[in-house]
Amino acid sequence: MSKPTLFDGPVVVVGGGVAGLVTAHLLAEAGAQVVVIEKFSRVGGLARSYQYDGFVFDCGPHRFHTENPNVKSYLDRVLEGQGTWFPRKSEVYFAGQYYRWPLHPKNLVQLPPALAAKSAIDLAINGMKTYGQDNFEDYVLRQYGPTLYEHFFKGYSIKFLGIHPKQTHPDWAKVGLNRAIIDDKLQMQNLAQLAKSTLLQYNKAEIDFLYPKGGGLQVTWDIVAEMIKAKGGRIITGTGARQAGGNGRIEAVYAGSERIEPSLVIWTAPITLACDQLNIDMPDLPYLSTLFYNVMVDEDVPRKYQWCYYGADDIVFNEGIRNGPAVMNQIPRTRPGSFFGLAGGALGYSGGSALGAKLASPERNVIQIVGDGAFYFGNPSSVYAVAKQYRLPIFTVVLDNSGWSAVKEATLRVYPDGNAKAADEFHSLLAPEMEFGKVAEAAGGYGETVTDPDAVPAAIQRCLKEVRGGRAAVMNVRIPKI
Ligand SMILES: Cc1cc2nc3c(=O)[nH]c(=O)nc-3n(C[C@H](O)[C@H](O)[C@H](O)COP(=O)(O)OP(=O)(O)OC[C@H]3O[C@@H](n4cnc5c(N)ncnc54)[C@H](O)[C@@H]3O)c2cc1C
Repeated sequence: MSKPTLFDGPVVVVGGGVAGLVTAHLLAEAGAQVVVIEKFSRVGGLARSYQYDGFVFDCGPHRFHTENPNVKSYLDRVLEGQGTWFPRKSEVYFAGQYYRWPLHPKNLVQLPPALAAKSAIDLAINGMKTYGQDNFEDYVLRQYGPTLYEHFFKGYSIKFLGIHPKQTHPDWAKVGLNRAIIDDKLQMQNLAQLAKSTLLQYNKAEIDFLYPKGGGLQVTWDIVAEMIKAKGGRIITGTGARQAGGNGRIEAVYAGSERIEPSLVIWTAPITLACDQLNIDMPDLPYLSTLFYNVMVDEDVPRKYQWCYYGADDIVFNEGIRNGPAVMNQIPRTRPGSFFGLAGGALGYSGGSALGAKLASPERNVIQIVGDGAFYFGNPSSVYAVAKQYRLPIFTVVLDNSGWSAVKEATLRVYPDGNAKAADEFHSLLAPEMEFGKVAEAAGGYGETVTDPDAVPAAIQRCLKEVRGGRAAVMNVRIPKI
């Protein structure tokens, strides 16, 4: 009797993402009878697209850029006549400026002077240092030195992987950074290489990537799915696969109530799920979830990148008191040292503290969000005088509800039906219609008052522009009075 082969029974591919679809397609072309089971209602997995209000959105920026000729010719074949090559454009927003990405030696001159000097010194002495070989951090330190590592790689990697670069294998840096993010021809390990790279890269063409002409990346996966079907394969969507078996063998895979006895199972869904179904010890793999926000912008896009990294590096002081929870919900922070609240007493702390933070971290935006009551307590005329004197451009947002909401609400909590409520007098009102921005203006800063929620985004942009230009800004926001 001949040995059973792949082609003796159906090959079940679990997961209709890129890995599952392409594997199923190539197997179907080789003559296997394939069944793809996809839990979601359509194929594409992490690289799928969806529609909203007539617009197509990809799940995050997805670009095919490969140097592998087999992958390239496969994609050309799939998207024949329906794909187009675009130059890859990525940027990093850092310290108020956009930097081309992969990081380019010329970017050094864009850096704030103190950072540029430190980076150049790093590169000058980097060749004399010895770094280990065994983790991501060492790899990048060897390549770029500590200053660029701290500012451009460390935070991003922690955010992206959810693991500290010291605990990340150096191969991730080699493959992930060198191929996907950093140009491999671009060497910056010392000043001589830096100079050479700068000259060589001067006219270097951008890397191109392939993208469908219309309909988002989803077009690609829909085509592959059709190609699988054309070869006699099946695609079952909208039901999660369940495996049944024992003694280390899979006897059947269920798609809903349909039982399939496969010659082979190719599992591209989470491995933890496969282990769970088969009662196998689970590997210790933490799951990293992603939230996508899509914003439709009704104007010309000022920067033409497809991918931009905004580090969560700004420092936020939240002294919104009763509006503090709203601030926390609206401005989620992921990194230690990027958010300060008020733990107890010391109302009025945030102005002085914001100045201190700006002094310590001049390259970061420091944003003070404060109620009008706490704003008075912070001695604002001194705050903006210090900001001017020592060139510490902080950005203050005053949430002006013309009163002490905490006082009023505390009274109501203790005496919900008391005299204060009956008289509607809580001794908690502050002057209405204040122009808090003028306090900053008195010290050469920038101020403006916003009353319409729709006007807030543009006002923030104007204030940040002034802050980048070196002067403090106050955005006085009139919110409903207490
Ligand atoms: C925001 C973002 C941007 C990215 N940008 C790029 C890029 O520019 N270039 C690039 O090359 N890569 C990029 N990637 C990475 C790329 O998207 C992934 O590597 C790739 O899509 C993974 O494909 P996959 O098939 O391995 O996994 P997945 O896409 O996760 O597919 C697994 C599939 O299994 C399904 N599934 C789960 N459980 C079951 C079950 N029980 N039964 C049946 N089906 C199940 C899931 O619904 C899913 O469809 C990006 C990723 C993200 C998140």
